[in-house]
Parts: sequence; C-alpha cells; structure tokens
Amino acid sequence: MSIKSKIPIALLILLPALWASLFATEPVIITPERPSALAFPPGETVRYAAEFLRFHIEAATGKKLEIIPESEAERHPARIWIGNTRFAAKNLKEISFHPEELLIRSLGNDLILCGETTADGLDRGTLFAVYEYLERALGIRWFFADIPQLYPNGLGTEIPESNGLKLTGWDIREFPRCRQREGGISYYYEPAAVQKLWHPVLRFGSSRPHRNANHTQINWYNLYHQTHPEYFAKNAAGKTVFNTRLPHRNYICPGETGVLAQMIQNIADADAGKPPEKAWGPCPPEKNYVYFAFNDGMTLPKTCHCSTCIRLLRPDAPEAGQASELVFDFIRRYAEAIQIRWPERSLVTLAFHHYRKPPEKSAIPDNVNVTYVSKYMHYANHPDRWDEETSYIREWSRLLKNDPDRLRIWLNIVAPAQYTSQVPLFYPHLFRKWLRANLQYSDSYFINGLNPYLKRLNAAARRKAIATYPMVYLQSRLLWNPDADIDALLEDYTRKLYGPAGKTMREIYRIFCERWEKFAMQPDADEAGYIHSVRYPPDIIAQINALFAQAVSETEEDSVYRRRVELFRNHQWVPFMAEAGQPPDERGK
Ligand SMILES: [Zn+2]
Repeated sequence: MSIKSKIPIALLILLPALWASLFATEPVIITPERPSALAFPPGETVRYAAEFLRFHIEAATGKKLEIIPESEAERHPARIWIGNTRFAAKNLKEISFHPEELLIRSLGNDLILCGETTADGLDRGTLFAVYEYLERALGIRWFFADIPQLYPNGLGTEIPESNGLKLTGWDIREFPRCRQREGGISYYYEPAAVQKLWHPVLRFGSSRPHRNANHTQINWYNLYHQTHPEYFAKNAAGKTVFNTRLPHRNYICPGETGVLAQMIQNIADADAGKPPEKAWGPCPPEKNYVYFAFNDGMTLPKTCHCSTCIRLLRPDAPEAGQASELVFDFIRRYAEAIQIRWPERSLVTLAFHHYRKPPEKSAIPDNVNVTYVSKYMHYANHPDRWDEETSYIREWSRLLKNDPDRLRIWLNIVAPAQYTSQVPLFYPHLFRKWLRANLQYSDSYFINGLNPYLKRLNAAARRKAIATYPMVYLQSRLLWNPDADIDALLEDYTRKLYGPAGKTMREIYRIFCERWEKFAMQPDADEAGYIHSVRYPPDIIAQINALFAQAVSETEEDSVYRRRVELFRNHQWVPFMAEAGQPPDERGK
C-alpha cells in the first residue's frame, strides 16, 4: 500500500497551496524557454548559470530557490531572470553590449541577470553576471579553485552566511577591458571539469576570432624524417642530427623550398578532408586562419645553419633578434603563398625567443597576425628590461599597421618559479603598469602565469604552483579592469580568506610585493644569488617566519582559516625557506 493512499484527498488538494504560501515570499529563478548556449563551459546553456546561482544562494542562505521556465513566471511576485528571456528582451530593448559584457538590473522585484550574446546566439555575458551578483549581493568569493587531489575541498571559496537576497536597486553593466584573457588553464591543457572550477576565479574568456598560435611542428619528425630528411635543420657542418629522444624538439629548415610546398599541400589536404596526422600540432587550419610556430626549444645552435639559412642568421646580434630575419622571411613567403590560394585566410604566428625582436628587413604581409612572447614582463621593473620589451611591442604594432586585432601578447612567466627558485614572485603593481602602457597596442593576453597547475610537472611541482594563487587572482581582476584598486583587492583577499589572521597575511603579501617590485634585478644577474642575497636576506626570512607563526597563532585550530594559513605556509614559504638554507649550488635543484 502506498503512503499516498492513506492521506485524505482534501489534504492532497490543499498541499500545493500550503506549499506555495510557505514559499510565496521566496524569489524564483526564471530560465528562457529556449536557453542560449554559453561560450563557456562547452556544451552548457544558460540553464547552467541558473543552477550555479541556485547552488550558491542555497549555500549562503540555506534557501533552495525554484528554477522555473518563463511560461510559468506569471504567478510569482519576485523573480530572477537568467539569460535570454523574453522578459529581458522586452525590458532592455535597444541595449548594445560590449563583447562579454554582463548586466545586473532591477525592475521592482524583478532582477535581470544577463549579458552579451554573439550574432550566432552564443551567450558570453550571463555567467559573468551571475558571478558578479553572487560576489556583490552575498559577499561570495572564489579565490582559487578547489582541487581535492592537492588540498581539502572548500579552501578556495568563501561563502559567508547570509539571511536574505537583495533583488532591488541593482543597475550594473561591466565588460572586460582585455578581450583575450587566457592561459594554460583555459587553453587546451586542462579538461573542461578543471576549467569549470577555475572560471569563477579567473573569469577567463576571449572575444577574439582566432586562437593563439602554439608550436605547430611537433609531429613533423614522425611524418617526414624518413621520407624527407631535407626538411630538417642542418648544423654548421651541414648535417642533420635528429633528436630521437624528444621528437617534438626537431626543427625545420625554413630555407628548404620543399618545406613551404609541403605546408601548402597539407592545408589543401586538410580542406579536402584528408589532413596529415597532427601536421599542425594542437592548431589545425581553420576557415579563416592558419597557425604556425617553430617547435619549442629552438636556440641559435639548433636553428638551421644550411647555406641558405645562415645568410639570414645574426649570431652576433643580441639574442632577441638573432633569428628574426630568417624566421620572418619564411613567414612572409608562407603568408604570400597562403594569400594566393586562400585570400580569406590569415597566418597566425609567434614572435618568440631569438626571433621576438621585430625584423628590420623582412616585410610583414597584411595577412599575418603576431603574438609577441615575452618571458621578462615580471622583470620589467628594471628600466633596461622595460625599455627593451615595450620597444619591441611598439615596433611590432607599427609593423602590423597599428591594428590591435593583429597583435597579441603572451606573458611566458615560467622563471624563476619553474626552474630556478621557489621565491614568492608577486608583482601586481608592475603588472598593472605594464597593462596600462601596452593596452594601446594590444588588449589580448595569454599568460602562462594563469596556469598555476603546471600540468606537465609532477604532483610536488603542482603543489608548488599554489604559490602563484594570489598573483593569478589579481592578474585576472586586472585583465578585466586595468584600473582596479590592487590594494583594496588584496585587503579583501586577505581579510576574507584568512579571517582573524587577515592583517598578518596582508603584511606578508606586502613584503612579498616589496621584495619583488622594489628590487630590480640586472638583466645579466645570477638570479639565484640575487634572490637569496638581495631579495630575501636572512633578516627578511626571519621576519616572514615570525609573521607566519603569528598568523597560525591568530587562527583557531581546525578552523578553515588555520588550514588556509598552513596551506600557503607549507607549499609556498617552507620550500623557499629550505632553499634559502641550502648551499648556493644546491638551490633550485
Ligand atoms: Zn636551412
């Protein structure tokens, strides 16, 4: 016998009414009849934004709001409208949005959370509106993603308890000033499940029409080393020596005419539906774009020295320009060949390593887009570094006809954290200064420092990446708004994340910041020596040790604040302190 049959019919009739009256004052979340697809996460619609909102409102207030379709909205007095509802379209009328813009607007007891939608109907703003509303209305913060494999869940998100939800009085529109805000997390290294965890923290996205170029020749060794050994770089003795251990570290000979012919043939084959396997690494050709970049690790000695190529190499020039003429002469010829067969296509490439300095001789055709790759932005507090890097960006902008759509910047922030030292590297004011100075040339940023996960390394190294969390958080805020108040953000970060130890942790970050930003390392300095004698001499080490001890003592045992202080102390500070105590030649190993 079912329970239902025991309940009097009259009560069954009354129950829905009782239910409705109990919750009559709670707002409902309204989704469109046909929810638009979101730009992120892949495969989701604005329904995902509604679920995200409901989950966090419940976590903060204990109240689980109903999500109902727009057709049933009529009978509810307080409503939150998500995404492409007819209600939003009717009430917002003529609004024209910036790319990825978010909107939060009250109309009496109705609250609209929506955003920009592309011409193809892809919603790029609503999820940002939901994040922004949760931050402002309930004080929720996503400071870093919760990665249960690395630390206990719940450490990176702060959800204060709250009694109510304010629907009235909102009128906010915001859009990201940088149109590309991407990095390792948001590119192709991490699966969508991990990207979802980071998205509220980083608010990554791009309204640019093409991807970043990356090293495209990684499978050429497998494809051609037997049939076409002449495609590959020769050393000064005219010989090709293959790297059989690391096949993706073999380099092509840009002077060999067969290489260019093969590339054009490969595009034609891809268009015909029979592309050679991984002939462009992670970046196959698209309708309007072809990607190219030499493989990673191509230093001057590994660059082709055949009788054709050597004429364009400049071994005696400063490193930044040693291969610029050779590389961009090849890029010019490749772009011209593309232009003849596919005038709708542009060639997207990198200015990297010893070819990052703009070429002086080779012309840059109009169908070339460049990503300038710098690994020195965070050292640009030294005036020589600043002048060199910003002059290259200025010159690239000029060569690309001052068209910001054709120039991007890749901040390849891998040293010293990845190679030399576990020094806390924290430079938010320098980052903001750089952004503001270079925005006129490019508003598109790809940042390896946005990859705090360092996927290619082992678990211990991934934990090391925890040291980059506060910088990554501030970076993402600055990419959205280069005028953001860094000190207010850091104040909010430390107060909310560390509770009673907030002031002490704020002081630690103030020192980290000062030791990086106020100490400008000479470009030719021995970095490990500089770190341990100038940036962090013993008295500073002792001072920070004492501050961490104080922060621990200010938090209750087993509290979330204690766990957060210990997370950063154990994974950021303790390894660096151990390094500081090592003999100089052991450091960084
Ligand atoms: Zn060559």
